[in-house]
Amino acid sequence: MVTNSDAYPHFWAILDRLPVALLYKESAKAEIFANAAARSLLGKTLPDKALSLPQLSEIRILDQHGNKISLLSNPLLMALGGTKLHQQVLLEVQGTPSLYMLQSDLVKLQFSLGNTIIVTLSPLQNLPEPRSAQSDTVQPVAKPSADIAQLEEALAFDKLMSLISTELINVSSEALDQHIEDALAALGEFCHADRSYIFQFNHDISEMSNTHEWVRDGVTAHKENLQQIPEQALPYFFEKIQRDHIFAVSDVSKLPAEAASEQQEFEHEDIRSVLCIAMLAGQQLIGFVGCDMVARQRNWTNNDLRRIKLVGEMIANSIQNVNYRVSLQQIQQQLLSANQELQKQANQDGLTGLANRRNFDEKLLEELQRSARSKLPLGLILLDIDLFKPYNDHYGHQAGDAALQQVATALKKEARRQGEVAARYGGEEFALVLPDSDGKACLEVAERVQQHIKALQIRHCQSDVADYLTVSMGCYSVIADKNTGPEQMLQHADKALYQAKAAGRNTIVTDD
Ligand code: GH3
Ligand code: MG
Ligand code: MG
Repeated sequence: MVTNSDAYPHFWAILDRLPVALLYKESAKAEIFANAAARSLLGKTLPDKALSLPQLSEIRILDQHGNKISLLSNPLLMALGGTKLHQQVLLEVQGTPSLYMLQSDLVKLQFSLGNTIIVTLSPLQNLPEPRSAQSDTVQPVAKPSADIAQLEEALAFDKLMSLISTELINVSSEALDQHIEDALAALGEFCHADRSYIFQFNHDISEMSNTHEWVRDGVTAHKENLQQIPEQALPYFFEKIQRDHIFAVSDVSKLPAEAASEQQEFEHEDIRSVLCIAMLAGQQLIGFVGCDMVARQRNWTNNDLRRIKLVGEMIANSIQNVNYRVSLQQIQQQLLSANQELQKQANQDGLTGLANRRNFDEKLLEELQRSARSKLPLGLILLDIDLFKPYNDHYGHQAGDAALQQVATALKKEARRQGEVAARYGGEEFALVLPDSDGKACLEVAERVQQHIKALQIRHCQSDVADYLTVSMGCYSVIADKNTGPEQMLQHADKALYQAKAAGRNTIVTDD
């Protein structure tokens, strides 16, 4: 369906020639358009195809019993105002859920709802008996001017709600409270209530808290005092809102005896009339939205009900959206942490917490490439515990593991400069990658390691080198070029380590 009549100059020319009467309103615009058939059917001498609300309000619509439908419940006007009609509809045509029919004293109306509202009117063949003038005086119709003011207010409310709901769709969790308060203020003002509010239930609906509140000037706010109210305090209310999803009391003084606690609470707050409607997230009752009248009693209308329900639905949806988004963020954070933890585990040696062989290979390659770019020397130390097999055989595998951990801790402490990596190369062999370290700097680190391990004084009675655990080290340093590979570096360091072993262990050798 065409949704912008301005953009289609021939649009109305076509509609004007149709043998069916049409009313047409774009949701963003105030005007209501009537084609030629509609204008003549309505019997008005309408100067223009655009109709105003007062003109439309003169269309009297009767229900199937011949009673005049009040202007605000007039389904034609509600349809044009964008309201869903299924609750007010009088006669539903079978099998066509979006097509509704009802009769007026002028016309038979059919209209369908969607983004664009099309109302078609056709002359009525079987007019219901008009109601007598007497019964009209018994139930006087409100003055058109008052009705129109109300109608304009109703349309203004719908417009405001559509603005608020658009904002609420993607509201951030920080801005949610402000938007809910705006919606409550609009609700309170439009319903002429003294207070409007949101309560939210806890998970098992055993208690409720007042989370948002709007009050008219001069009316006392109660939010702070209405936190974590247990079900036992207001059992009648809890049961009613859970069962019926509505709690409507026009006169608090007429509450039944079983609602004594509720009555006492309302009277304590000087509340004369209350209307609360449940907020649902899917099937789950999450809270309710409500309005109070303070110091004066009020009969709630269908319009009040409709507005409160609408605001409740909007707020429930946005709370749910924000909750989804917050829990999604939490899940993402958990995934990220789990991922980081996995990454760490994938790079770590389980026993010692040092970089594992895979991580060592990566780091060595990275540092070689960096050295080739920066022309700074890269040092590598390979370290092997002396006579570790006899140590294990004598002290046991567990003690062997503990000794490996002690050596690892010493290496971590000695390779503490930015970029330095201490790794478990395999078994009782370790490696240190030392960026920006020439042969002399490597030797200094190796000597520090040797001293550190000596200071640990891990007793090794099976060693013929010393009476404590010792290590041998092979050092190599290079200013890499693009042809220098990790294997080459490892070969040099390994050769030096072999020489250190051959030289009697507990020894450091540098390969030049
Ligand atoms: P050398 O001075 O020539 O290096 O003699 P070694 O006994 O240290 O060398 P060898 O290669 O013969 O033995 C290494 C021992 O390290 C053998 C193995 O039991 C021990 N080892 C390797 N990995 C582990 C480990 O994870 N835990 C323990 N407890 N021992 C290990
Ligand atoms: Mg070895
Ligand atoms: Mg060894």
